[in-house]
Amino acid sequence: MTTATLDPATIRREFPALEQSINGRPLVYLDNAATSQKPRVVLDALQAYYENDNANVHRGIHELSRRATVAYEESRAKVAGWVGAAEPSEIVWTRGTTEAINLVSTAWGLDNVGEGDEILISVLEHHSNIIPWQLLARRTGAVIKYIELDEQGRWILDELPRLLTDRTKVVAISHVSNALGTVNPVKRVAAAAHEVGALVLVDGAQGAVHMKVDVQELGVDCYAFSGHKMCGPTGIGALWARRDLLDSMEPYQGGGEMIHFVGRDESSWATVPHKFEAGTPNIAGAIGMGTAIDFLSGVGMDAIAKHEHELLEYALERMNAVDGIRIYGPQSPDEHSALISFTLGDAHPHDISTILDSEGIAVRAGHHCAQLAMQHFGISATARASIYLYNTESDIDRLIEGLEQVQGIFA
Ligand code: PLP
Repeated sequence: MTTATLDPATIRREFPALEQSINGRPLVYLDNAATSQKPRVVLDALQAYYENDNANVHRGIHELSRRATVAYEESRAKVAGWVGAAEPSEIVWTRGTTEAINLVSTAWGLDNVGEGDEILISVLEHHSNIIPWQLLARRTGAVIKYIELDEQGRWILDELPRLLTDRTKVVAISHVSNALGTVNPVKRVAAAAHEVGALVLVDGAQGAVHMKVDVQELGVDCYAFSGHKMCGPTGIGALWARRDLLDSMEPYQGGGEMIHFVGRDESSWATVPHKFEAGTPNIAGAIGMGTAIDFLSGVGMDAIAKHEHELLEYALERMNAVDGIRIYGPQSPDEHSALISFTLGDAHPHDISTILDSEGIAVRAGHHCAQLAMQHFGISATARASIYLYNTESDIDRLIEGLEQVQGIFA
């Protein structure tokens, strides 16, 4: 049942991995932006599928195949509902966000982007939303332009009218930054991009995880996201794209499942979305992602967003009081998702992470696959604590204790 608030202590009990100790201390898991832990219902769904229903989808005319196909397609419908797709066929299963972006940059890009055309991305992007476009630019002679960042890592949008031209073919931007936590003004950029006729792709890897997403309301053309960051299994994710766009695109990969008829010289393709799903898919993963959506819906996305926001405010307040800390990204919690990127005095982020790990606290350290964002700040790495529905104030208190230890060592 959807409630306005959630009790993290009750929720935690659904996540077996959170029950362990690391280095003699109860685990504090604050690396959720990399991947989330999985609730028991998702683990059970994976096991139940393999124990009872394991068969290939869409192929066999027997009971197990029928059951697998029904569960697989039901999950697609759940994913469609999750982001406000007009119909389930607008959801293409992929390995995750990365593959979804590569699908568009290849299948759409090679036919729609040519020499001298422009691709607009931002300096804040994850490498998954940079490299596919660089590959496309290399193959087509297109030019990449960048939305620059201000001192808090926000997009500088005054430049937008100059950046968007009649040569702009695609604008590929992230909903929420995994490096800084910035919630980006995607809707505004999408509207401007459409005025010059550009396609708008959103990297939603950190978006659909923490907030209700409605792709119609955002006014975008494609939205890519991953199951494993939202309580689902690894190796599964989705591309949402408008049906007419998917219909107009050539296949991404060839093989079984994606054909209608195969001839010696010419073949024809299955309808959307199967046209983009060559080969045996990750059936268990898709079912697990559908179960994760049921789980998150049961808790309530409003309740999750509220909980994370309160915890973020608490964490920002406590962390800002730590001597020598520098927090990157927007200072206002209202422009911030539940993720804090920071450095502490002279301590290297890897040292911060190692010391915290010795206390059973998992945070991420590195460039977070966002080297352009790191270069913007003149650094090579940060430490990053990222929050999810099962984190508590006491997790933040443990983080602060750990940071005080780091500070003591490097003082
Ligand atoms: N985009 C963002 C903003 C991310 O945070 C990530 C993963 O960390 C990705 C893309 C890539 O997601 P995946 O590795 O699941 O394909």
